[in-house]
Amino acid sequence: MMVILSLVFLIIAAFAGHLLAGTAMIPIKQAFSRQREFVADASHELRTPLSVLQLSAEAVQNDNDQKLSPFSTQVLDDMNSEIRRMTRLINDLLTLARADAGATNIIKEKFDLVAMAKPLVRSIQPLAVVKRLKLAMSGDETLPITADRERISQLLLILIDNAIKYTPAGGKVDVLLTRTATPKPSVTIAVSDTGEGISEKERKLIFERFYRIDKARSREEGGTGLGLSIAKWIVDVHGGKIKVESTPGKGSSFIVILPQ
Ligand code: ADP
Repeated sequence: MMVILSLVFLIIAAFAGHLLAGTAMIPIKQAFSRQREFVADASHELRTPLSVLQLSAEAVQNDNDQKLSPFSTQVLDDMNSEIRRMTRLINDLLTLARADAGATNIIKEKFDLVAMAKPLVRSIQPLAVVKRLKLAMSGDETLPITADRERISQLLLILIDNAIKYTPAGGKVDVLLTRTATPKPSVTIAVSDTGEGISEKERKLIFERFYRIDKARSREEGGTGLGLSIAKWIVDVHGGKIKVESTPGKGSSFIVILPQ
């Protein structure tokens, strides 16, 4: 009798616990969802005043009627670069907040990855030249892929921009685009550099939001600490894989495999 009573008690307790846990989860879920909405709304609202600020600072900078002192010129330059950094940060936050809420439109279409990447690499070439780096692209002549063109272009930009940021002058950045037939038809994007490299421990952490190996260095280069989290999200929503191979002191390779 005692055994049966204890069993009944245990079942009732487990059931009550289950119910309580279930109802307790609802406010937590709502709080998370409100927080995500808040980040998305705040980021969106901040974009307008920031673009007004940027336009105003540029207007003063380009005002030929006015002779600015070297001090004012310097202040304006600093203001502009901080506004650009903040705009990037807000855009990145907005992308991730929308991604968390599942509110990003991924529009897949068939296009040639090589034809898309060529002008993109050409447009980043001046950045490499300024940093005295060699930026080259090689691989297949054409690579048809079904994916979100905008997002894949953003992914390439993040990886090439990082390679340029973290490679000292005189180095090399290579973009290799190839096709793999097995086990499934897929394309491989490899962005390799001869930069400072990433230790094994850091390799596991760099895809986390706001994680930066050297905060000061990233800030100096205009980084937000969100690039690789966005890159990983883009790869994930395409059902692909991203990994990094690196030899500290020699360089790194970011390798993305996407279904074709
Ligand atoms: P950030 O805006 O700081 O570049 P990311 O999320 O793109 O943010 O990258 C996270 C961190 O990973 C960077 O701050 C940097 O320390 C490291 N990292 C990324 N790419 C490279 C690379 N090609 N070589 C060395 N370190 C890198």
